[in-house]
Amino acid sequence: MSTLSINNLHVSIEDKEILKGVNLVVKTGEVHAIMGPNGTGKSTLASALMGHPKYEVTEGTAFLDESNLLELEVDERAKAGLFLAMQYPQEVSGVTNSDFMRSALKAVSGKDVPLIKFIMEYEKNAEDLKMREDLPHRYLNEGFSGGERKRNEILQLKTLKPKIAILDEIDSGLDIDALRIVGENVNQMISKDFGCILITHYQRILDYIKPTHVHIMIDGKIVLTGNHELIEKIDQSGYEWIKEELGIDF
Ligand code: ADP
Ligand code: MG
Ligand code: MG
Repeated sequence: MSTLSINNLHVSIEDKEILKGVNLVVKTGEVHAIMGPNGTGKSTLASALMGHPKYEVTEGTAFLDESNLLELEVDERAKAGLFLAMQYPQEVSGVTNSDFMRSALKAVSGKDVPLIKFIMEYEKNAEDLKMREDLPHRYLNEGFSGGERKRNEILQLKTLKPKIAILDEIDSGLDIDALRIVGENVNQMISKDFGCILITHYQRILDYIKPTHVHIMIDGKIVLTGNHELIEKIDQSGYEWIKEELGIDF
């Protein structure tokens, strides 16, 4: 079992404070949905945890088991067992998907990955995600549709097998079939060795990946935590009622 513990995390971008004291504990076996209006800092939380240089942590701590994440380089955070599926996956021209994946796997595991074993697992994962067969030879995300990019993030997730994954709006831009495929594949990974943070705007993905915890982030803080009933309430009534109930402005 592993635990990601975030304590009083404050993060600034270009001297503007975006995260204003986030507390969150995520264990393997759990699914934490983070919902909230646009611009409240959900992606900032994801980027800061992965170590994006633009995001300055000014206060607080983040540990994955004994690893002090904030002291680690990006690749060391991945080695410690953290993974981020990005809201906007980038294209990398000149690097094929399979080469990228094999070197990432080598970097994360610290071991050489036998080619045959890698190819077999890669193809199995690609098939599970119903990706096109030419995928391994295409350049990373180049010319990929929005949905293909999101599936490719989940393919990376399945290959790297992190302890804790942060999935940032993996449901945006997916049609209903792709949503089900992505949802089912993530759901199958949930185990005593894997847990995730699911950042989303929509209830739909949560039909496939049942959250054990639901958090509402507003203005850089988690202001409310509950269970799936909270999702239904947000779906019906939006976020305005929280503002009134908690007496906060945003
Ligand atoms: P969310 O994911 O909840 O929609 P973000 O974390 O993307 O919100 O953004 C939170 C705030 O930080 C927004 O006001 C956004 O404009 C700002 N922000 C995020 N990333 C950057 C960046 N790289 N440079 C400047 N401002 C940013
Ligand atoms: Mg957003
Ligand atoms: Mg975002």
